[in-house]
Amino acid sequence: MEFNKCTRCGNFYLAEGNVCPKCKTKDTLEYSTFKNYIQENGLEDGIDTISGKTGISVKNLNRFLSYEGLGDCPDKLGNISLKSGKIDL
Ligand SMILES: [Zn+2]
Repeated sequence: MEFNKCTRCGNFYLAEGNVCPKCKTKDTLEYSTFKNYIQENGLEDGIDTISGKTGISVKNLNRFLSYEGLGDCPDKLGNISLKSGKIDL
């Protein structure tokens, strides 16, 4: 058995994914908010602005950016400068 550490609250849990079951609902909601935002506005504004407009923390935005499935807009992703560099998943 393998424990995962929740990237949102730091709790350990036994389940698939990057966040624990408790955080899953909010994380899914924020991820879809983020995807809707970049579909309409792109990523040109940068992480800080997107965070301010969506209410999603920079840490979570960086994590969402690292997810697969955003490969359909590689040009937009190439324009962004990630503040904290590597993301610790
Ligand atoms: Zn959690």
